[in-house]
Amino acid sequence: MDYQPTGGVSWSQDWDPTTTITIKVKEQLHCETSPYQKLEFFDSETYGRFFTLDGLMMVNEKDEFVYHEMISHVAMATNPGIKRILIIGGGDGGTSRELARYGSVEHIDMVELDERVVRLCQQYLPYTAGHLEKEDRIDLHFRDGCKFVEEADDESYDLIVVDSTDPIGFGEGLFTKAFYENCYRILSDDGILVNQHESPYYAFHVHGMKRAYQRLDEIFPIAKVYQYHMPTYPSGHWLFGFASKKLDPIDDHYPEVWESLHLKTRYYNSNIHKGAFALPNFVLENLK
Ligand code: SAM
Repeated sequence: MDYQPTGGVSWSQDWDPTTTITIKVKEQLHCETSPYQKLEFFDSETYGRFFTLDGLMMVNEKDEFVYHEMISHVAMATNPGIKRILIIGGGDGGTSRELARYGSVEHIDMVELDERVVRLCQQYLPYTAGHLEKEDRIDLHFRDGCKFVEEADDESYDLIVVDSTDPIGFGEGLFTKAFYENCYRILSDDGILVNQHESPYYAFHVHGMKRAYQRLDEIFPIAKVYQYHMPTYPSGHWLFGFASKKLDPIDDHYPEVWESLHLKTRYYNSNIHKGAFALPNFVLENLK
């Protein structure tokens, strides 16, 4: 997964032991290793500017809208009254960009472990991080999200979005029972948790998906999974978790309220909202 020119310049990521994605790049814009991870930024013809952590694709200009719209708007259309938001991870800024589009949102705390992710995304990825400087409803905290939720007050947020890396290394804590229990405690009565829920396709991600679902299902009365199509993540078939104390993403979905806001989106719409919760049989089997 190192930067290796192969008859032209290319970046590649192993999706499983026998499958690799390769992207031709124009140039590597930046490379550094922070105390937490290796950060690299590239420019490419097809995917525009993109950014990787420890060699794994995080964000690129071509499909980031899918991920960031789906992690944000499903919860906002289920509870249009959401005002206080906590984002864990999400240092590229894409999730806070989408959530800050709602005038009704009063405050967003964004807790990112690695300040370098935010600072370099501000420099190289203005399409996801450009608003961070200007948006005074967003407070940045450079800390471990697990510690942050441990110390947060009861019922202090209406929405928690866990926009995390895979459950390895320091990202692992964001997939534990203790973390989800604290999320439950600090959510309001009609609060919602949305989390990066891995993928149902390759073995490594299936393991993470099952574990996340089992733990959420033990703690929250409502725990569901919804899917989205992410071409540059392994297999392209990815999931978010939706958990809440009482709101159901289908029964309590307010399409009219959301549509009256006239937010322009490229992936999310009210039909996708419903359809995303209809899961293929092999995914349902794995979640049992
Ligand atoms: N869209 C991305 C994906 O799934 O590939 C995730 C985006 S975002 C860059 C993930 C962020 O989570 C990283 O910047 C990482 O530093 C942050 N992160 C990982 N573990 C964390 C923790 N325990 N507390 C706070 N942030 C964390």
